[in-house]
Amino acid sequence: MAKEYSLQQLKNMDKDMILHPQSTPKEVSTNGPSMIFSKGEGIRFTDMEGNTYIDGVSMLWNVNLGHGNKELAQASYDQMTEMAYGSQFYGNSNEPAIRLAEKIVDKAPGDLNSVFYTSGGSESNDSAFKFARFYWQLKGYENKKIIISLKWGYHGVTISTQRATGIKEFRAFSGSSDPYIYNAAPHLTAAEQGDRSHPDYENSIRGLIEKHGSNNVAAVIIEPIQGAGGVHIAPDGYLEAVKTLCEDNKVLFISDEVICGFGRTGKHFGVNHWDIVPDMITFAKGVTSGYFPLGGVILSDEIKKTIDTYDQDIPHGFTYSGHPTACAVGLKNLEIIDRDDLTAHAAEMGVRLQQGFDNLEKKHSTFTHSRTVGLLGAFELMRDRQNEVPFKNHENESIAGDFVNEGSKRGLLIRSFDYEEGMNILAVAPPITITKEELDEVLTILDDTLSFIEEKWLAL
Ligand code: PLP
Repeated sequence: MAKEYSLQQLKNMDKDMILHPQSTPKEVSTNGPSMIFSKGEGIRFTDMEGNTYIDGVSMLWNVNLGHGNKELAQASYDQMTEMAYGSQFYGNSNEPAIRLAEKIVDKAPGDLNSVFYTSGGSESNDSAFKFARFYWQLKGYENKKIIISLKWGYHGVTISTQRATGIKEFRAFSGSSDPYIYNAAPHLTAAEQGDRSHPDYENSIRGLIEKHGSNNVAAVIIEPIQGAGGVHIAPDGYLEAVKTLCEDNKVLFISDEVICGFGRTGKHFGVNHWDIVPDMITFAKGVTSGYFPLGGVILSDEIKKTIDTYDQDIPHGFTYSGHPTACAVGLKNLEIIDRDDLTAHAAEMGVRLQQGFDNLEKKHSTFTHSRTVGLLGAFELMRDRQNEVPFKNHENESIAGDFVNEGSKRGLLIRSFDYEEGMNILAVAPPITITKEELDEVLTILDDTLSFIEEKWLAL
């Protein structure tokens, strides 16, 4: 019989024995974990103290089908009892991996017709960087190694993907600079289209390609809608301009769809909102709705065919590449999304969310810059929105952080982005299964929280 532990014992054990990812060590090792999750059902989860919350950002933007989905659990059970694990190394395969690849390429745009599997988003982007360099090497371009990403892009935490991540703290953490990874200024349509008078021209993607020479640049990586940098949507014409720039300079275009993929934005992929086909798409999170770790890279025919000419082992691949149970869960997840028409549902709920945001903007003077693409949404808080005067932090706390605390007291967990003083972005990205009534509940809690927060912070 497993030993019974009290909640306090578990907290103490956690404090002493676990180093938490993306958490403040001093805080967690002193106070223990803030919540120990214990149960989830639909859009809600409960912690071990018995508090129930609406999961307003689908945990880490991944639990797209919501919690407690028994069909996904059954798919995992069925595969585990059939054959839990079998590797894809040495040219081997398994049926769920093959069937999932069929489903994924069926959804992918253009000639993106093959899949390389990984266990998550960072590994997917890392793999895409390697494939880009390897592709150019096979084409005879030995020096095409540079990867260009954007400020506020988030691409993971391995050494290379962390350097590609355009958030200062992440780039600095690895303590190493990488001569092959550059971070360009954010979304500059004019500069990417060749406007040299733009103040950020030199640090635009175009400027960086010019500076380093196209013979040295392998790929550009962009999230069509940036997630962890604060939900920034590529402006009209931007992705098309970058794609043209890439084509003109023999540079590959990687679309990081780790958050945007598989229905969240109301289309199969974020890039489908624009008229472009990337050379590679990277995915993770929503492919299994977070029920099993899985990720991958979708490759264009040109890249796959070129790599297929290589007649030695490629020294790249993860133990869990093509994990059969992960793939069986992914397959069932995508089947449910299709069967229940959840991509169209996310688009419809996204329109409702934006209407709700518009109403909140009318009612609350601090609410501004709201944006949604399907169920990937955000808004900002400003002291004086007409004049773009931000809220300054108060006693080391941002208004956005306070909003999250106050929202959670009212039963809604969302996420804040306050990387810089004065940046107060709040993201809303609930499971794509959310009903109209549940979404209205989210909006009501946002409304109540805004009333409280506005009164408190405008008086400070
Ligand atoms: N790319 C994007 C757009 C992400 O949002 C994330 C994670 O949040 C990653 C990559 C990294 O994925 P993982 O945490 O699975 O390594």
